[in-house]
Amino acid sequence: MTDLVTTILSRIRDVPDYPQAGVVFKDITPLLADHTAFSAVIDALALDLDVDKVVGIEARGFILAAPVAYQAGAGFVPVRKKGKLPAETFEGSYDLEYGSAVIEVHRDAFAPGDRVLIVDDVLATGGTARAAVELVSRAGAEVVGFSVLMELAFLRGRDRLGDVDVRALVAV
Ligand code: AMP
Repeated sequence: MTDLVTTILSRIRDVPDYPQAGVVFKDITPLLADHTAFSAVIDALALDLDVDKVVGIEARGFILAAPVAYQAGAGFVPVRKKGKLPAETFEGSYDLEYGSAVIEVHRDAFAPGDRVLIVDDVLATGGTARAAVELVSRAGAEVVGFSVLMELAFLRGRDRLGDVDVRALVAV
């Protein structure tokens, strides 16, 4: 196990039965509060990145994607829950365990053909990731990768992402 993996695993807290019974929530706030761990994570996510924009998925994706964009010399673009972005948007819906959710991106967020990395904190079932990939593609950009801090591999979320290059700093 690398030092980075050990650091990440030691700074992500499992919170059982949050937000509902049966879910083990991966709480990244201890990692964010540790400068050494946080900066190592950002450096790893931004390593060898050649993109025009980094997309963050609301809300924890923002915390990671913005410094990755800065580090990579790229712009930052937010993908938000419905109703939060002020200008014209594209929207995409995806299924949750109960019901569905809608995410949006500004219609003019990308130049045609922009190379884009999408970042979130946790990849679980892949529903959010897939919706974000479709949304960014619809907005005219090229999704070159999807990166997360932690992948819950047993949920097989990456299987829903086709040939997108999925990277996780740790998989559990
Ligand atoms: P999914 O669409 O099932 O892949 O879920 C991914 C989204 O939900 C990400 O934005 C995560 O922040 C959040 N999420 C899902 N499961 C967890 C979990 N066990 N711990 C923390 N966040 C989670």
